[in-house]
Amino acid sequence: MNSGTHPNSLQGSLDDDLRHTRQTPDRKRTVVRVGSVDIGGDRLVCIAGPCSVEIGESLGRIARGVADAGATILRAGAYKPRTSPYSFQGLGLPGLEHLAQVGREMCLPVVTEVIDPRDVEIVARHADMLQIGSRSVQNVPLLREVGLSGHPVLLKRGMMTTVYEWLCAAEYVIEAAGGEAPIVLCERGIRTFEDATRNTLDLNAVALLTLMSHLPVMVDPSHGTGRSDLVPALARAAVAVGADGLLIEVHDDPATAWSDSAQCLDLDSFSAAMVECRAIAQALGRDL
Ligand code: PEP
Ligand code: MN
Repeated sequence: MNSGTHPNSLQGSLDDDLRHTRQTPDRKRTVVRVGSVDIGGDRLVCIAGPCSVEIGESLGRIARGVADAGATILRAGAYKPRTSPYSFQGLGLPGLEHLAQVGREMCLPVVTEVIDPRDVEIVARHADMLQIGSRSVQNVPLLREVGLSGHPVLLKRGMMTTVYEWLCAAEYVIEAAGGEAPIVLCERGIRTFEDATRNTLDLNAVALLTLMSHLPVMVDPSHGTGRSDLVPALARAAVAVGADGLLIEVHDDPATAWSDSAQCLDLDSFSAAMVECRAIAQALGRDL
């Protein structure tokens, strides 16, 4: 890639703009350590959990179920950036504390979203990894604050961002961190003309990123499709295309989930999907 072409062109010269994120011939692929889990190595990683932290016993049951099926990182949202201000916005700090406690009990590292730069410190105190959600990917003050924290980051693709814009978001985090930061990219679907599914999962971008960046890339088929009956198929496809892992929303009783109920897998479907995905990973010389 050489300099001087249109910033949205991937043919062009992005050496300068993507100085920290692009792959170069001598650079090894980045492996991001979250607790005791490595993302980006031969073993794919599954991050699983409900969309939102809920009050009660549910999170513990879900954590046990997903861990039994092979998930190694627990995820649930305490601060929810909902499209409508009238939807459930998350439990906030009590949710964060509950998530951290369940993670400790299950010996699972936890990841959760931070949406406000002022909350980065408290979220980083309770979580092993900070999620930047689709709606926040170009919130520069948030990206900088997360970079300063030094915490591992799960950087979701914006629903309306190009690959270039997404990698520039990672550059903001890395610049704030002083030139190196543990970032995992997560493709979660983009908005296209097609409205038969919630989003269009861009697996092209995943294959492309494994070539053009050294950062690990995960795939979220839950938000990518919005339908639990499509999630296993797209999870299998993500493994086949070379993703470093999966992010899947799971609930012990999806019909009662406080958010994203239509796309949550139940524990049995999640276990079955993991068996299939593991077989595909193994066929490609990896594991899950
Ligand atoms: C989520 O992870 O629950 C979420 C809100 O995802 P996204 O930012 O991809 O919409
Ligand atoms: Mn969700």
